[in-house]
Amino acid sequence: MAEIECARCGKSGEPLEKPPLRNELGERIHASVCRSCWEEWLKYQTALINHYGLDVRDREAKDFLMKNMEAYMFKTGETEDIDVSQEGNIRW
Ligand SMILES: [Zn+2]
Repeated sequence: MAEIECARCGKSGEPLEKPPLRNELGERIHASVCRSCWEEWLKYQTALINHYGLDVRDREAKDFLMKNMEAYMFKTGETEDIDVSQEGNIRW
């Protein structure tokens, strides 16, 4: 598989096997974010969900996560500044 130059860390790396989300942001992440940055995002996302007690079935919670995901990957805005040391499991 061809390597990509990652939009987040600026290094070349392996892309994800497939887009992680079925939307335009998922396609962009697939095209331009490396696997290790995606894994870091997943940890950060878990921390956000725990921190805010988000219900991921909730539309507003999803929008909030999408916005943070975009900001995290593409530095398009502010991400929430929280403790990311907590880990857990999320089921969409
Ligand atoms: Zn990266």
